Amino acid sequence: MPDGYDLHTHSQRSDGTLSPHELVNRAAERGIHCLSLTDHDTLAGVGEAANRARKLAMSFIPGVEISTSWNDRTVHVLGLGVRTDDPGLTGGLEDLRRRRADRAVAMTRAFAAQGIDIEAALGTWTGETSPTRTHFARALVRAGYAKDHKRAFKRFLRPGRPGYIKATWAPLPDAIAWIRAAGGIAVLAHPQHYALTRTRRERLLGEFCAAGGGGIEVVTGNASAAQIRDNAACARRYGLAASVGSDFHGPAQHWNDLGRLPCLPRDLVPVWQHWNH
Ligand code: AMP
Ligand code: MN
Ligand code: MN
Ligand code: MN
Repeated sequence: MPDGYDLHTHSQRSDGTLSPHELVNRAAERGIHCLSLTDHDTLAGVGEAANRARKLAMSFIPGVEISTSWNDRTVHVLGLGVRTDDPGLTGGLEDLRRRRADRAVAMTRAFAAQGIDIEAALGTWTGETSPTRTHFARALVRAGYAKDHKRAFKRFLRPGRPGYIKATWAPLPDAIAWIRAAGGIAVLAHPQHYALTRTRRERLLGEFCAAGGGGIEVVTGNASAAQIRDNAACARRYGLAASVGSDFHGPAQHWNDLGRLPCLPRDLVPVWQHWNH
């Protein structure tokens, strides 16, 4: 039986395809009893999701996935159980969304320089939502420049490709400090995504812990059994709490739908001990 926890999901407030309300409905239908919405660099969907979860008597943890820069790489840190009105956190996120908006403008220009006009396909951003590369991937697919997202990323949106614009995000220790000051726990997201050498990964984990990081995603969407074992070993070695999150972006990614994650290894301390479930 799955744990019934999913502490890493996205809505339309960043690059998910469901509204916060629809996301909570789907999670409930698929057996999740404790959900966190963790949109990229915004808390804009948390109020709507929390209201819906209350109606369905589901536990809801306010969350966010913060883009950070560490040694010239992008590292994602989840803030779980944060207060949504903390000025340090909301101010930091606002700055990140401005960087995202500036990058989106630069990306649109880079595409135009290639003769690819996707401006019209992109829609408009409010200051509260986060424009992401996923939006560009969808626009490229819609306009016929790529067959699917994966190919759009490969051909246009990865480092070294024509639509890639490098951005500097929040310094890793700053993001951790914002999360903690807002009463949350900082969790290193999808450790298997960073393609780090062993040495670099140990350095990342050491610095993450030294800065006050408290958890690591052990069970994540699309991770292999070997990667989950690896993440679990990191949790033990560094004394980090263990989290579970699909990184769900929408039903179209049917291979990563809600309610399908395996359980955490039983010897680990789950992050939800924090909230006394
Ligand atoms: P951004 O934070 O705007 O640079 O966009 C990162 C987002 O793009 C991630 O959260 C994923 O949802 C998505 N993404 C990154 N790499 C890929 C890929 N290779 N294929 C599909 N989606 C990707
Ligand atoms: Mn995403
Ligand atoms: Mn991520
Ligand atoms: Mn995510």
